[in-house]
This record gives sequence, C-alpha cells and structure tokens, in this order.
Amino acid sequence: MTTDSYRPEKNISTFYPPQRTLMGPGPSDTHPRVLTALARPTLGHLDPVFTEMMEELKSLLRYAFQTSNLLTFPVSGPGSVGMEMCFVNMIIPGDKVIVCRNGVFGGRMIENVERSGGTALIVDDKWGEPVDPQKVEDCLKKNPDVKILAFAHAETSTGVQSDAKTLSGLAKKYDCYTIMDTVTSLGGTPIYMDEWGIDAIYSGSQKCLSCPPGLSPVSFSERVADLVKKRTEKVHSWFMDINLLLGYWGTSRTYHHTAPTNSLYGLHEALVMLHEEGLEHSWARHRRNYEALKAGLKTMGVEYVVAEPYRLPQLNSVHIPAGVDDKEVRRRLLADYNLEIGAGLGDFAGKVWRFGLMGNSSRVEKVLFCLDALESTLADMGSIKVERGAAATAAHLHYAANPILA
Ligand SMILES: *Cc1c(COP(=O)(O)O)cnc(C)c1O
Repeated sequence: MTTDSYRPEKNISTFYPPQRTLMGPGPSDTHPRVLTALARPTLGHLDPVFTEMMEELKSLLRYAFQTSNLLTFPVSGPGSVGMEMCFVNMIIPGDKVIVCRNGVFGGRMIENVERSGGTALIVDDKWGEPVDPQKVEDCLKKNPDVKILAFAHAETSTGVQSDAKTLSGLAKKYDCYTIMDTVTSLGGTPIYMDEWGIDAIYSGSQKCLSCPPGLSPVSFSERVADLVKKRTEKVHSWFMDINLLLGYWGTSRTYHHTAPTNSLYGLHEALVMLHEEGLEHSWARHRRNYEALKAGLKTMGVEYVVAEPYRLPQLNSVHIPAGVDDKEVRRRLLADYNLEIGAGLGDFAGKVWRFGLMGNSSRVEKVLFCLDALESTLADMGSIKVERGAAATAAHLHYAANPILA
C-alpha cells in the first residue's frame, strides 16, 4: 500500500516546454532534424545496426576535429565529463600541468588537475583577453619538467579565442602534451587537430553542433593512447578510463556502460548536417552572422568586450550600456519574445551580455529577430536612446553586401 505522503502536491501531467529561441552561451537551438532523429526507436547499445552507426559517428567526428586519430568518439556526459576525462587519464599524481586561465573554464581545468593529483602552474590573463603565448613560453622555460599544457581554445565566459596553433607549437617545442577545450569552437571556428599537433581535445554537443546537451566528443593522439596504456597506476576513475571505454568504442564491443543510444542518433544527425554543409561553410556562416549582429548592435551603441581580432563569432560578449537594468532586459526578452540571451558569468556578472550565435542559432532570421527584440525592449524601457528599426536595417545591409559564397 502506498501512502499519500509521497504523492506530489499538484496533479502532474506531460511536460510541454515553451518554444524558445536560444541565443545564449549554450545550449543552442536543436535543429528539427536532430529532434526527429532523437525520437527514432531505441536500439540496444550492442545491436549490430547500432554499432555500425557508431563507426559512422567516429568518422564524422574525425572530420569535425580534422584528425585521423583512431581514439575519437563521444563520451556519455556533458562537456565537463570530456574535460575531466582528459585530465584524469593523462595525469599521474605528481605531474606538473600548465593551465592557462583567462576565464571560467581555465579555472575549472585547475580543479581537474588538482583532483587528479597533479600540480597546476597557472598562467593568468585578463578576462576578455586571449592567452599570451609569451607568458606560456616563460613558464615552460622556467619549468622544464612540465608534462601538459592545457587551455581553452574558445573561452565561452568571455567570448575570446586563443591562438591554438601557436600554443600547441610551444608545447611541442618544450616536449609536452596539449589538452585543448573546444566545447564552443567545434563547428563554429576552424580547428585543425592534427595539423596543430593537439594531443587531447574535448567538446560538447549543445553549442555549435546544436544537439541537446549530454554528449562530449573527444579525440586523443597516438601519444596519449600510449601514455595511458603504459600507466602502471590505474586511472583514478572507472567510468572515464580510456582503456576500459575502448572495450566498447573499439573493435571488441564489450559492455562498459549502456550508451545513450537515442542521444547518439541525435549527434550523428547533427554531424551529418555539418558534413553536408561543409566545415568551411559552417565557419563562414558563423562569421557572417556575427558581422551582421555586430552591425546591428553598433546602432544601439552596444560595445564588445573583446578586441576584434580575438572575438569568437559564435559568442558575442558585450558591455551592458550604462543605466540599463540587466535582469529586467533579460526577463522581458524571455517573457515577451521567448528569447534567451546569456548573462555575464563570474567577474562579468551584471556587466556583460553574451549573445550566442551557435549552430542552428546562427541563422539570418534569428539574428534579425534578436536585434529587433533587444532594440524594442531597450526603446520601451527608455533607459537609453535607440532608433527603432535601425539595428535590423544595419544587419540587412551587411547581409546584402556580403552574400554567401558558393
Ligand atoms: C559549456 C562549456 C563547457 C562545459 O560543458 P558542459 O556541457 O556544460 O559540461 C566547458 N568548456 C567550455 C569552453 C564551455 O563553453
């Protein structure tokens, strides 16, 4: 007999989420093709038809990362799990790791290093600025026993892109491994994993790939595979141990954990779409929409946090104009327009908005909608002067002058 004391207080029925437009730091809008893929019949995670799909998924990810690494697959878990997986497999207690910190995610990497038993040597740069390669080289020179260099390619908390090629070149020069966070960059800006010589990379499904959250594509070089194979001390995580996971994602197909089959159909579909569009076209689309958003924001006097050459087209951090009520603007955008934009994180809370133009949220009609909603909201609130209609016009003019190249 059940008792009433465990009964929910209200009568709960099916959950119907509102149809929002997601233009913050992620998740981005899931494409209808991906949503449809998610709803297909569930298969067993060892079903031969499913394992065939897994092979396609791995090859599509190799294309996205521009790598030939055999060890390329999606981990069951959000981007944070991909991050942790890199550190926990590659660090042996006592190892020294240089972590570049120019925003929130560098800070999380430090946590990961320490929890894996390593020592983090921190190279700090200001929020809103890229990692300074000179500081990294100075640190490498001073510490010849450093094993790993870790940095975020795209720092989502600030909208900055760091020079991955130069940083990984330094790692090579001083004979250490690289771990690179590409959660926000994958699909949105160029990544050449092999050409740049990156050893370990992780990403997320919900940013420029426009899948629901919960999967983290990762890739590891042959060097990392050897390193992990040769460990005498067990990896300090059962779930994330690459050697064990390979039993499932490798050729033997033995049970490790029940893979989230439907979520993986979704990622497969998103990567098929990326492949159909072509990486270069996807990068160009993200850039074109950023330029249009920028032209519109300019008409409202809204200024960027990051200097032009280091901006991420998919994550636009801007200063909230003086006198404008941050929370009220975001509340109105959500209530009146079903539009979500990003608030500032950490040091930037209350000072910065983050407009995400990621994946399926990086579209002409969404840029125009976002500019129009923001402009109207600011005009209605009256705290700053804006000219109604100017933002969308500026964006339209940008699009007209910059047609999509074939
Ligand atoms: C979003 C993000 C993460 C974390 O991903 P989750 O899926 O939220 O765990 C890590 N790094 C960067 C740069 C991100 O933008």
